[in-house]
This record gives sequence, structure tokens and C-alpha cells, in this order.
Amino acid sequence: MSHVGVCVPCGRALVCAKNEVSVEVTYWSGPLYNELFSGDLWRCPDCGRELILGIARQPFASKNVVGSIEYDRIKRELKAAGERVYLMRPSNGRTPVRL
Ligand SMILES: [Zn+2]
Repeated sequence: MSHVGVCVPCGRALVCAKNEVSVEVTYWSGPLYNELFSGDLWRCPDCGRELILGIARQPFASKNVVGSIEYDRIKRELKAAGERVYLMRPSNGRTPVRL
């Protein structure tokens, strides 16, 4: 038996609501960095709690203080398509930036 996750308060297995959602991480590492990762959105069918799991190891777009035309273009396209960009605070020792 294999389940991706269980909602503890409800005791229900999570269901995948959407594959390949965008997750943005902003952190300070000398200059300010922004990175976009792909992940999967999971939801509890009872209470609606949401989790993003399966976040890619490498970002599909990134930029630093100098900027990135590609990063800005991708953000504009996501917004134009009505795609939500989820925010994540890093927990890997990088200094998070409070958004
Ligand atoms: Zn639940």
C-alpha cells in the first residue's frame, strides 16, 4: 500500500489536485535571488487543506539582482494564463526574505 500523504485531522488520503504548479522562492545569498520550481498540488478531499509535494530539485527559472529577461517573461506568462504562483520560504539554510 502506498499513499502520498494523509491529512492528520481528517485521516483521509490526499488527492492530487494539479500537477506542475509553480512555486517561487525568494532568498538572500549575497544578492537577492528568485527561483521558480515545479511541484504538485495535493488536497484533502474533506477539509481542503493543500500541500505542495514533489518539488523539483532544480528551478525552471531564476534571477538575481541583475535580473533575468527569461524569468520575467515566464512570470508574465503564468499571470496571463491565470496560473497561481505559490510562495515558499526556504528551509535549507538560505536566508529567507519575508514577503
Ligand atoms: Zn483534511
